[in-house]
Amino acid sequence: MVVYTVTGNVGEAGYLDIANSGDITGKNIYVNMTNRCPCSCVFCLRQTKKMMEGNSLWLKGGEPSVENVLGIFAKYDLSVINELVFCGYGEPLERLHDVCKVIDELKTKYPKLKIRLNTNGLANLIHGEDITPQLEGRFDTVSISMNAPTAEEFLELTRSRFGIKSFDALKEFAALAKFHVPNVIMTVVEKVMPEEKIEQCRKICNELGVTLRVRPFES
Ligand code: SF4
Repeated sequence: MVVYTVTGNVGEAGYLDIANSGDITGKNIYVNMTNRCPCSCVFCLRQTKKMMEGNSLWLKGGEPSVENVLGIFAKYDLSVINELVFCGYGEPLERLHDVCKVIDELKTKYPKLKIRLNTNGLANLIHGEDITPQLEGRFDTVSISMNAPTAEEFLELTRSRFGIKSFDALKEFAALAKFHVPNVIMTVVEKVMPEEKIEQCRKICNELGVTLRVRPFES
């Protein structure tokens, strides 16, 4: 499933292909263009056998081309939606150039389209350079999964292939993204993280000048 809406609790039952989503007026539309990711988070179902066999967000036919994605959007009027969100079970910026191509094409038709990126914040490590200038004019919001208040805990949870430097890279990504994107937020999940650690995360976000959003826990 490449383009979808989410209903009720986030989870398998809550994902609806855009073709089965009915009236999309006022809804958030999600785009899933890759399952690749440099992390292997302990809470992510991405690599499990069950996910590969049964989950609708696993791209069984491989990654869709830019043309495929635009072909799906061509059937809908995106001027009525709330927000377009690049996320998916994978890191969207693994396909930075293709994501940019899709956005540029959509923006020619819908210049006011609101676009958000949900990311692990490691794109500068993935690409070996500062890619945040490429977010400018394309994304209105960048939402980064912070996951933990320290480099050690972050690595323990995400098992990032970039190792211990990942957390500092994430923080730097957030700080750099602020120069190019109006809203940069970091997220943690309530209940999963004790209150004192959430406070530590809040302090880091304040120092970086970005907003911390505590997402509700969904079982
Ligand atoms: S960063 Fe996201 S997609 Fe990647 S392993 Fe973690 S939860 Fe899964």
